[in-house]
Amino acid sequence: MKINDQKIALVCGAGGFIGSHLVKDLKKKGFWVRGVDLKYPEFDNTEADDFIIGDLRDPDVCKIAIDRRFDEVYQLAADMGGAGFVFTGENDAGIMHNSALINLNILEESRKRNIRKIFYSSSACIYPEFNQMDPLNPKTSEDSAYPANPDSEYGWEKLFSERLYLAFNRNYGMDVRIARLHNIFGPLGSWNNGREKAPAAICRKVAEAKDGSSIEIWGDGSQTRSFLYIDECLEAMRKLMDQYKFIGPVNIGSEEMVTINELAEMTMEIAGKKLTINNIPGPLVVRGRNSDNRLIREKLGWAPDYPLKKGLIETYRWIEEQVRLKAE
Ligand code: NAD
Repeated sequence: MKINDQKIALVCGAGGFIGSHLVKDLKKKGFWVRGVDLKYPEFDNTEADDFIIGDLRDPDVCKIAIDRRFDEVYQLAADMGGAGFVFTGENDAGIMHNSALINLNILEESRKRNIRKIFYSSSACIYPEFNQMDPLNPKTSEDSAYPANPDSEYGWEKLFSERLYLAFNRNYGMDVRIARLHNIFGPLGSWNNGREKAPAAICRKVAEAKDGSSIEIWGDGSQTRSFLYIDECLEAMRKLMDQYKFIGPVNIGSEEMVTINELAEMTMEIAGKKLTINNIPGPLVVRGRNSDNRLIREKLGWAPDYPLKKGLIETYRWIEEQVRLKAE
């Protein structure tokens, strides 16, 4: 139960990677927290005070979850995954339909309950493909989102939902915060269920490989990305929530850009293994992507300070342990 003037938060998607870390972070900050998701966190017990197992596509579930005037609502629930889930085209209808329904339902229920502040997790995937063809010079400044041309339906849904949150802000005065997250990684995320992203997939491949053997990497390996460690993502989200006027959309990511082959080499170094990289055809994704942090530096005075390697060491250790436990 909520005690006296304790702040209360709702985390939608609390069984997922970012959501489960966020619940812990909010608990540390003294919040009473309710989580809601289709499932409990897979790799850890939830620290939420209350956890509803439910489908947020159903307006009745949203009504039950948003039954009071939360100080903060975090909307992280989405049908999502890494390139093997988002960029093959096989899951497009579900991604668009499910995630849009969740956002429509949650916003409407939050409006009815006069929710104080709501956070929406958008994505770097909203940026136009034509600005990300050169791996060494991708453009992701917030104002480059339009004219829009994301390279996936996942990106289009995120863009639609950004607009939905902005419209609720404009017409109903709802206090919304919108972040475009760029490749968040760390322990306790999907690593072997087809929804894992590049850092987790590479850590798994390296952990499973015998020294001297080879690992497969999708694409020619020269495609570039940046990756932000989960703790730093939570820090930036907090800054955005505590900011008085600035609502975003704003990039939350790292500017330490690496090629995918460099990411694999860094992982091998951490593992102390010598492996050959075998670049194979994979789902087509933009050639280059990096976070442009000028706006977040200016508005929130925030920049990440974890080098990629530090977060990768933590992530590799955790995935290596999962691989070992699975083999037992
Ligand atoms: P995740 O898949 O681990 O978490 C999403 C959670 O939403 C899952 O636990 C899932 O069960 C839940 N969910 C899906 N459909 C639901 C439904 N109908 N009802 C209730 N719950 C439902 O993903 P994540 O990495 O934690 O990402 C969280 C959010 O951040 C997502 O909206 C994602 O699009 C966004 N995002 C993440 C990244 C990243 O790098 N992880 C990057 C950009 C944006």
